[in-house]
Amino acid sequence: MAEIGHGGKEIKERIMKPDEAKEKIKGLAQVPINKQIANEIIDISYGWFTPLEGFMNKKQVDSVVKDMKLPDGTLWPIPIMLDLSDKEIADYGVENGKSVVLTYQGNPMALLEVEDIFEVDRTEMCQSVFGTTEEKHPGCHRIYNCKDKFVGGKITLLKEPTINEPFGPYFLPPLKMREVIKERGWDRSVAHQTRNIPHTGHEWLMKGAFFQTHNDLPVEKPNVGVVVNAIIGEKRVKDYIDEAIILCQNELQNAGYFGPHNHLTSLTFWDMRYAGPKEAIFHAILRVNLGITHHMFGRDHAGVGDYYGGYEAHHLLESVRDQLDITPVYSMNWLYCPVCAEITSEGLCNHKDQQQKFSGTLIRSIVTDGVKPPRLIIRPEVFDRAMESANKYGAQNSPFVNEEYLETRTPVFDIEPL
Ligand SMILES: [Zn+2]
Repeated sequence: MAEIGHGGKEIKERIMKPDEAKEKIKGLAQVPINKQIANEIIDISYGWFTPLEGFMNKKQVDSVVKDMKLPDGTLWPIPIMLDLSDKEIADYGVENGKSVVLTYQGNPMALLEVEDIFEVDRTEMCQSVFGTTEEKHPGCHRIYNCKDKFVGGKITLLKEPTINEPFGPYFLPPLKMREVIKERGWDRSVAHQTRNIPHTGHEWLMKGAFFQTHNDLPVEKPNVGVVVNAIIGEKRVKDYIDEAIILCQNELQNAGYFGPHNHLTSLTFWDMRYAGPKEAIFHAILRVNLGITHHMFGRDHAGVGDYYGGYEAHHLLESVRDQLDITPVYSMNWLYCPVCAEITSEGLCNHKDQQQKFSGTLIRSIVTDGVKPPRLIIRPEVFDRAMESANKYGAQNSPFVNEEYLETRTPVFDIEPL
């Protein structure tokens, strides 16, 4: 049976058979690409970006910028573009109607059927996608720093990537994820977007989303799953290292705070654009394609600085809800209340003066000190796993990204020779 993704389109993997790939790329120019593009090739090829079949052409980009839609009317908030310099286009002979091989780590990764080479109004694009044209917004910065031109065309992956330890079990592309969800027997599933190791506030975000998603289902046979979907992409100094994020999220299940019957950890390759409300819609589309039925959105989802109002993403999602085959679950903040002596939700108990927010700075200092925090703040097993990941994968035994980690880490995936 066909698996249907975003916009009512079938999810199709665009991956060649090994013998076919060798034959198809003979005599074609080989164009090196960076990690962001490699991540997005994987997203396109496995169907995370359904209905896209490649990098956008000018007509698609213009339509997304102007109307937040693809030319056929399908909701789409963020342009997906491959940039090349004028020199690369000339040197490699990139031309409309020709195919080229995109190489990563020195090996052929994907075939690109070039159909359009174009420039865009970058200021207009930033205003539309990010609601600002300021260079200091990381999404605008990325657009302004793209190379001279954009190249649109269909992509086909030449060979599946090798997913390196410890990420292998968590690489669940759309068709595989849908199989796993069926195996688990979940009638409903709720996506939790994360780039963090979980403290108990996050744990309760997930538990709250579980209850909200369960809602009117009969309770005799619990069949709702929380799908933790970590965004793995560009790392900056002070982010958590990818290994710690994945392993600590999964530790909540290992240690029994959840179980395989209601929890699954997974990843999606994507460099955050911090587009706030529009990125919330984009994240919803990724999870529609993964076959997830509900999606949790907390305060300031995918925001940065003070560019977006706390609940602006919720409002934009509501305005396009009929075009998204996923149910948004809007979450309140979770706090620690010393009077209740437990985790509580914003506005639930009335000890307003005593409630303590989970501050990123506080959690960071706890983890940096390496002294086991109270279990009501971070579960001991999660803390131990964070320290173990720091020793095993971090630089200078730190679970936070530093320059040395960026230079010496093992890539999440490799492209092997054909
Ligand atoms: Zn209280």
